[in-house]
Amino acid sequence: MKSKNLVVQSCEELTKLINTSEINAMTENASSTLIQIFTSVADSNWVKNVENILYKKFPNAVIVGASTGGEIAHGELYTNSTIISLTFFEQTLLKAFIYEIKDNNEASLGKELIDTIETSCKNIAGILMLTTPSTMNTSDFLAGFSSSVCTYPVFGGGAGDYGYILKSLIFYEYQYLSKGVAAVVLMSDKLEIQTHTCLGWEPLSKKMTVTEVDGLWVKKIDDKPAFSIYQKYLDIQDDENFFLNVLEFPMMLMRDDEMYARIPQAVGKDNSLLFPGGLKEGEIVIIGYGNPKIIIDRAKEAHKLMENFNPESIFLYSCSNRRFLLQGEVNNETKPFENIAPTAGFYTHGEIHKKHAKINLLNATLVSVGMKEFDLIKTEQLNKDTQLIDNQQEDPLNSNHSRIVSRLMNFIKVVTAELEGAKKEAIHLAETDYLTQVYNRIKANEILENITKQCEQFGGQFSIILLDVDLFKIVNDTFGHNVGDMVLVNIVSVIKKYVRSTDVLARWGGEEFLLAMPNTELEDAIIVAERIRKAIEKTAFPQVIHQTCSLGVASYEKGQDVKDVIERADNALYSAKRNGRNLVVSF
Ligand code: GH3
Ligand code: MG
Ligand code: MG
Repeated sequence: MKSKNLVVQSCEELTKLINTSEINAMTENASSTLIQIFTSVADSNWVKNVENILYKKFPNAVIVGASTGGEIAHGELYTNSTIISLTFFEQTLLKAFIYEIKDNNEASLGKELIDTIETSCKNIAGILMLTTPSTMNTSDFLAGFSSSVCTYPVFGGGAGDYGYILKSLIFYEYQYLSKGVAAVVLMSDKLEIQTHTCLGWEPLSKKMTVTEVDGLWVKKIDDKPAFSIYQKYLDIQDDENFFLNVLEFPMMLMRDDEMYARIPQAVGKDNSLLFPGGLKEGEIVIIGYGNPKIIIDRAKEAHKLMENFNPESIFLYSCSNRRFLLQGEVNNETKPFENIAPTAGFYTHGEIHKKHAKINLLNATLVSVGMKEFDLIKTEQLNKDTQLIDNQQEDPLNSNHSRIVSRLMNFIKVVTAELEGAKKEAIHLAETDYLTQVYNRIKANEILENITKQCEQFGGQFSIILLDVDLFKIVNDTFGHNVGDMVLVNIVSVIKKYVRSTDVLARWGGEEFLLAMPNTELEDAIIVAERIRKAIEKTAFPQVIHQTCSLGVASYEKGQDVKDVIERADNALYSAKRNGRNLVVSF
């Protein structure tokens, strides 16, 4: 397998660059030729002219390509150019397909394509796929495509553009689609393909919940219109620059222990957001940002893996937002690949990568793909890649942008964590009784309202126990207020022994406690109340020694207000007091 990557601006230049003795020599033993065109010009006329020249020189080549949000050749970013990536295989055959998407038939076309591939192709070593995520539901397509179990790598990218996302294009053999899929099947039992993904984006904001979803449109996050999150926290407006502005701030989420990023592509009329990668109701999302330090560290890991694999060619499908984020330092993550093997690729609007049995449309990642037909031991095993980055980090004037972003990321993360901690503490203080550390009356009322609502809606039962310490005034008068306090704390620890995880214990007043017991009939609540009464009676309290309590028990009856239940428990408690104290009475 031999590779050559060309950067061209004009047809004349292309003609000159492919008619060299070097390229002529490469074609000699070729079993097949794969040409990938990565172009900033999403114009079929330009592509057609390029194809004409290429087919004339390589009549049997498979020529596919996509428009880009930046091109990669020799491991470096090129802009406003066209990259011609030539791969001459010696042991591999190719078969290509192109499908136009019509009538929202993505899922069924995905299934149709993989079925066709599985029946018409043998010795599949991998599939290169190019799609147009800005105009079609690529996630649905990939889900349909994944439905058949394939054991080989599937990789590629979504056609991009320079920010105006309506202009993306994919193409194969004089067919140009702004809504479709092209796939190249690589067939060989000699070809080895290894793929890696790197992310490096980190959660930045507080946690939010996706609360309403309709297909790929996320309607609400935390019960608010999804777009309002971007307006509020990032001051991003719904204007022609929306996508460019939002690109660097994807929503982050965890799925199957793996971190994913999802970039919104458009704002809907109802302020919903279109996420081509898809989000599910109930998923927890956090606005994320790329930490250049982590991005470069992850890229270094990928370089190492790729170096160990020792491929003959490398292809990169990298998210456009990495280019926006890393700015002038973006080559730090792509250039080291060129030290391993000729490297070409493009900046995408979504990366395609198969992990386990599932083929995903990813955002914000770098998908690197290494290929080799022969396991050559390289004579020069140089560690140029890591050296390149390390040297640059030693230069105090280099990587300034990255360092500033990393520091700011750290700052925001720490401040967010502090605020979240402070908020948690404030909530705890607002709903907890300081002395006994059980819920206070305000929180107890809120919980009781919720329990009642649940019973009203779904049917169900709950009981409450009101407990009041007997003749507590005497304790204070005899032993002092501090000893009285300790009695209250000790009474709570006794009660807690009879509290189930679903029960709620609260301090209802000075020396009065409320125990709410969901899904509990009156008879069972009386049994619990009696146990608590006996346990307190038997407890030897420091100094005070003997202490008793009176308890009133009542149950919710359908259609009743929570206040009625409390009132009945209170009356029962009052009756227990009148009848001599140290008693359980139920109403
Ligand atoms: P009864 O059996 O009728 O309930 O008699 P009692 O003395 O317990 O009733 P009363 O309501 O007259 O007195 C309650 C006492 O509880 C009065 C108050 O000083 C005391 N108390 C309320 N909150 C606290 C507290 O946080 N710590 C202490 N040590 N005492 C408290
Ligand atoms: Mg009392
Ligand atoms: Mg009282």
